[in-house]
Amino acid sequence: MTKILLPNDDALEMACDILKNDGLTAIPTETVYGLAANAFSEKAVRKIFEVKNRPPDNPLITHISNMDMLGLLARRIPHIALVLAERFWPGPLTLILPKSKKVPQGTTADLDSVAVRFPCNEIAVKLIEKCAFPLAAPSANLSGSPSPTKAAHVYDDLKGKIPLIIDGGDCLHGVESTVVLPLEGERISILRPGAITQEELSAHAIITNGEFSSNEKPISPGQKYKHYSPNAKVFLVVTDDSQKFKAYCHREYQSGDLILTYGGTPVEQARNLFSKLRECDTAGAKRVFVHSPEKHGIGLAVFNRLQKAAEKTVYLE
Ligand code: AMP
Ligand code: MG
Repeated sequence: MTKILLPNDDALEMACDILKNDGLTAIPTETVYGLAANAFSEKAVRKIFEVKNRPPDNPLITHISNMDMLGLLARRIPHIALVLAERFWPGPLTLILPKSKKVPQGTTADLDSVAVRFPCNEIAVKLIEKCAFPLAAPSANLSGSPSPTKAAHVYDDLKGKIPLIIDGGDCLHGVESTVVLPLEGERISILRPGAITQEELSAHAIITNGEFSSNEKPISPGQKYKHYSPNAKVFLVVTDDSQKFKAYCHREYQSGDLILTYGGTPVEQARNLFSKLRECDTAGAKRVFVHSPEKHGIGLAVFNRLQKAAEKTVYLE
């Protein structure tokens, strides 16, 4: 049975007990809900892959609650990583660093690097502090489905598979962290756009981009998979002109189709992104036409998630 508990002291005590015994607990973070396990326990992290049905070569992000934990996870910390940590932690920024021997291979999917983030969600931080070890925590959904931004989303995907969900309400950002690979000097590469924007990062680092290295082997294995998809087939329609979007939907419309536009500010669009994708399934839609958001600021992360969720991206002239 899966319990959903509000984040009081008893619930955090129970979560801590489970985690200390190599079990899993779903926790709120400021990005999306995470499926947490002791990042230093091979046995515990293996369970994450089983429960989510996550491809074994997709490494996990570890979550810390103080800078001492960073020293346990990474064997070296480039200067630019410290600069960004200083500016953006606690917060939705993940840094890829050379891994220490203490980190089991399961956590990093056999890579020699480890992904580290210091979240700013108070409940997550309190729990990590209580456990006194970093938590590996990918999104608490089944692999491939839209990420969970409410406790109910986690329940829908993982009921019966995990003992506990801590309900911290709706996630603040609604999209995952920005994954950054520090390079030489001030240079960094953004491996995944996220809640910390390119514009914010560029004030502190030189961004040299590409999610693929020169030999076309992805540096960030998670980026090659289809993700975030509801059961309905998503068609992402890219145009600045809402009249053209409407005309396209009108032309293509068949019974069972749904049209989805993300209104509001880019921040609100991010917050509603995954909920609205899940609602398409609740409504029983077969196909969904989504009007592409603007690609700057956090909108770039929203666009990236929609593109990965989409069966097809249609560019209108
Ligand atoms: P998720 O936890 O599902 O939001 O995904 C974590 C993301 O971080 C994926 O895109 C992973 O490929 C990426 N990631 C985690 N660890 C590493 C690493 N050591 N090197 C490069 N990318 C990583
Ligand atoms: Mg995920």
